[in-house]
Amino acid sequence: MKYIVVTGGVVSGLGKGVTASSIGVVLKACGWRVTSIKIDPYLNTDAGTMSPFEHGEVFVLDDGGEVDLDLGNYERFLDVTLTRDNNLTTGKIYQSVIERERRGDYLGSTVQVVPHITDAIQDWMERVAHIPVDGKDGSPDVCVMELGGTVGDIESMPFLEALRQFQFRVGPQNFCVVHVSLVPVLGVVGEQKTKPTQHSVQVLRSLGLNPNLLAVRSQDVVVDAVRKKLALFCQVKPENVLNIHDVSNIWHVPCILEEQAAHKTICDVLGLPGAESMDLSS
Ligand code: ADP
Repeated sequence: MKYIVVTGGVVSGLGKGVTASSIGVVLKACGWRVTSIKIDPYLNTDAGTMSPFEHGEVFVLDDGGEVDLDLGNYERFLDVTLTRDNNLTTGKIYQSVIERERRGDYLGSTVQVVPHITDAIQDWMERVAHIPVDGKDGSPDVCVMELGGTVGDIESMPFLEALRQFQFRVGPQNFCVVHVSLVPVLGVVGEQKTKPTQHSVQVLRSLGLNPNLLAVRSQDVVVDAVRKKLALFCQVKPENVLNIHDVSNIWHVPCILEEQAAHKTICDVLGLPGAESMDLSS
């Protein structure tokens, strides 16, 4: 099983969900079976009681799970049927750990965020990643996991720590981090700015996760010099800096990734063959 973790920096609502779904699409086009997990670091157990004005529409899955609308993107982009367990929230994890504590499963030990919450997160991710979602038997090949929110938020710390540990549990050859960030243009100066991305990558690194790829969101196409600067300051190869500019229709995003050979780069990082025979038309 290969895991792709999509994190976000600078601001929320950057398009992590669309990026994660589109990465799934290009890998599926390389012949791999893809599943996905959305991590929402809020204490609600699910999105069912959350205001759509604040949170966007609640997406209802086939099993009745009321979840974040990104799960709807995953289902449509990847043609899969997900379950409520594919949406992991702080509420669900704490609930499961507290239930186990009440049952006495921890045999008198002090129950703590590390290791009990972080272990529960890793066990959940590993279990759900292996569940087939495309109607075929057997485990999927790749699990794309999107961490909601922005790196550095207090809420997402246990998840980032769990992911840091998870890369050793599954092995670095099976683990790829894609960091979605923003390259803004300051009106007066008219330049594409890399500093917000540099800072958010620093935060991610300080938490023990090194991005293999950057996916930078921008209004217009990021110029070559800015791409090189991002590579240099964020310690990724220039070809591992992907740019997803604003598009009129999010279904174009997988094509933008294909144009930048994102499928080849990701397959390379994960040691997956098949990038040469990619066919997006299916
Ligand atoms: P996040 O998961 O980071 O909160 P989403 O994936 O939910 O962000 O996207 C936030 C909004 O931005 C959605 O309405 C989505 O359709 C839109 N969006 C995402 N990527 C792009 C893009 N490249 N161009 C235009 N709109 C986009």
